[in-house]
Amino acid sequence: MVSRKIVLHFPKTLVEQPIVYKLVKEFNLQFNILKASVMPNQEGLMVLELVGSKEDFDKAISYLKACGVKTQPLSQDVVRDENKCTHCGVCVSVCPVGALVKDPKDNRVNFDNKKCIACELCVKICPPRAMEVSF
Ligand code: SF4
Ligand code: SF4
Repeated sequence: MVSRKIVLHFPKTLVEQPIVYKLVKEFNLQFNILKASVMPNQEGLMVLELVGSKEDFDKAISYLKACGVKTQPLSQDVVRDENKCTHCGVCVSVCPVGALVKDPKDNRVNFDNKKCIACELCVKICPPRAMEVSF
């Protein structure tokens, strides 16, 4: 048996498909949704913990890829280097779960690590590279 945490990126065409249901029905996996951001007509993101045999897990990942769902292991955390962040706000619009929010009172960008699903979108876009992947 294996237990893995993975991040799924759904293109908007697949958001309303019963993909997670199929993981259970066709690949005998147990799942636990750790975080999700799935809205109609937008790209969806979900963090799942999957438990099952290694063979079923590998088949399920192949199935997800064939469907057009991008997967990445959730073996890392995303942290912010407070000394580098300039509170420019560039990251606010890319964060799919509202973990980076501008405070209207002082225009500073607050980072809520508990909401973060480690999708890394802000890591790539942050001009001073303040958002970092921590292993
Ligand atoms: S993009 Fe980077 S520097 Fe700008 S607010 Fe976000 S974390 Fe801070
Ligand atoms: S990695 Fe960045 S963009 Fe992704 S959820 Fe966390 S804070 Fe938001």
